[in-house]
Amino acid sequence: MVKPPVEPFMIRSVAPIKLLPREERLRRLEEAWWNVFRLRSEDVFIDLLTDSGTGAMSVYQWAALMVGDEAYAGSRSWYRFEETVREVLGVDYVLPVHQGRAAERILYTTLMERRGAKVVPANTHFDTGRAVILNAGGEPIDLPTPEARDPHLRHPFKGNMDLDALESLIKERGPENIAFILFVVTNNTAGGQPVSIDNIKAAREIADKYGIPLVMDICRFAENAYLIKERDPRYASKSIPEIVKEMLKYGDHFIMSAKKDGLANIGGFIATRDQDLYEELAARVVLEEGFITYGGLAGRDLEAIAQGLREVIDEDYLKHRVEQVRYLGELLLERGVPVVEPIGGHAVYVDAAEALPHIPRDKFPADALAAHLYLESGVRAVGLGALAFAREREDGAIEYPPFEYLRLAIPRRTYTNTQLEYVAESLARLLEDPKKVKGLKIVWQPRVKGVRHFLAKLAPAD
Ligand SMILES: *Cc1c(COP(=O)(O)O)cnc(C)c1O
Repeated sequence: MVKPPVEPFMIRSVAPIKLLPREERLRRLEEAWWNVFRLRSEDVFIDLLTDSGTGAMSVYQWAALMVGDEAYAGSRSWYRFEETVREVLGVDYVLPVHQGRAAERILYTTLMERRGAKVVPANTHFDTGRAVILNAGGEPIDLPTPEARDPHLRHPFKGNMDLDALESLIKERGPENIAFILFVVTNNTAGGQPVSIDNIKAAREIADKYGIPLVMDICRFAENAYLIKERDPRYASKSIPEIVKEMLKYGDHFIMSAKKDGLANIGGFIATRDQDLYEELAARVVLEEGFITYGGLAGRDLEAIAQGLREVIDEDYLKHRVEQVRYLGELLLERGVPVVEPIGGHAVYVDAAEALPHIPRDKFPADALAAHLYLESGVRAVGLGALAFAREREDGAIEYPPFEYLRLAIPRRTYTNTQLEYVAESLARLLEDPKKVKGLKIVWQPRVKGVRHFLAKLAPAD
């Protein structure tokens, strides 16, 4: 029997949730076109759609909101935010934005334009970043480490990049055509798996050799640091702030969604070590987000993020965070549900292709599992597979992503261990009779590339 971790906090404020009867859930699912993004949250019992902006704030964050300085320019809250980012991350130039994808859009497209280059290799692109690059005419390329291909291989750093493949790509396409090299830490799409410091350091050497910038998407930098401490004995006695600085010192530019390891409900930022690039990005932030001392956020949001960035590097917090996610994963493993191993930082990934061999890729097994999990239990999770990542090649053939995962993302400091037990039992029960899950077909999809899983209207494929 796996044991649940003890929470290093107490609950002082609660929000009631309600489980609708099954026939009601079926009605709501049909109204939502079998796409869980289209459900009302009121109709969801336990919401594991995302860990983005869905966490609980601490009493200190709520208190910080009250002292938010809402001045248009130069607010006190901005200075506190800037000082915190500099201190925690060790990066000098910071620009706030309304959320992570704005940071991605502004930084990625500026780098692509500056270098006149379109190819962007990554350990594995996340959906919003991929969509930004695609819509700017770029070419996102995934180069996950070969260990990531086997969901059951217990390798400590399956978030790593395949550096041999990176160097071959640079030689093949020419360094001048590579806009930047991207590390997503932790590697969200590939199972919330951590990236090792050795891998980032070696990529830095390649970046220097060919004169290519190295960008890091640090949405889950604290979780990555904690997993390094756990899994790499050389860092076992180092503090989390030390590991964070060591990990980030190899990057040139950074994007962050404060909705993840900022422990806030909204916000994000760009950070860079390059003053010249900073000036260019600052002008774009003014044009697209807001003045550089608020970037589309309220002063109180900047306060909540600054406080969150200090809390997120607390080791007691991180230990509970990572262990709670692992608890859900181990409950599922115990019940024979195929999950990606080892369990990553923020979510448990169920291998929907393995769990549902009767559903072909073009009937979207991961998204079908998400819809049926809601139907059978009121639990909302998200599919990360063909619906999100399949691509039509120029010759018309469909290129499928290497994975078909149902992601159960755990909001921070939000659900109890008992609620996660309910999730594990519900999913295990559903998969006792996998044929109950039927494939889906697309009824409607948007024209914009890379966002169809958010908006598609689906129906049972029969
Ligand atoms: C959430 C996320 C983003 C985008 O951030 P938003 O705040 O949702 O716009 C980018 N990269 C990764 C890895 C993320 O998890």
